[in-house]
Amino acid sequence: MGFFTVFVALTLGASHMTPSPSCHPKRNPKTGHIVRSRNALRSFRAMHPCPATGQTRGACPGYEVNHHVPLECCGPDTPTNMEWLTHAEHVAFHENMKVCPAVAE
Ligand SMILES: [Zn+2]
Repeated sequence: MGFFTVFVALTLGASHMTPSPSCHPKRNPKTGHIVRSRNALRSFRAMHPCPATGQTRGACPGYEVNHHVPLECCGPDTPTNMEWLTHAEHVAFHENMKVCPAVAE
């Protein structure tokens, strides 16, 4: 199915980051991870096929979907806030982000 891979990639955390106090994203009570929209991810992939495979579904080896403004920072869980990053870029993105960026109104 391949969806599991994508889902795992989406859960890469910014747990060390101070969350924005003004939003309270819905979290999975078991894992503590923010619940993300599968429909939004599907829409993003339909518009932006995996850079590695060119496919709009299935696993995307080496790449992960990042929320440009993290959900912890009140970023919208929408395709326009998503981007493909390599795993290394994704890790660096979250390591470099110590505080939430400003969210456009
Ligand atoms: Zn991310």
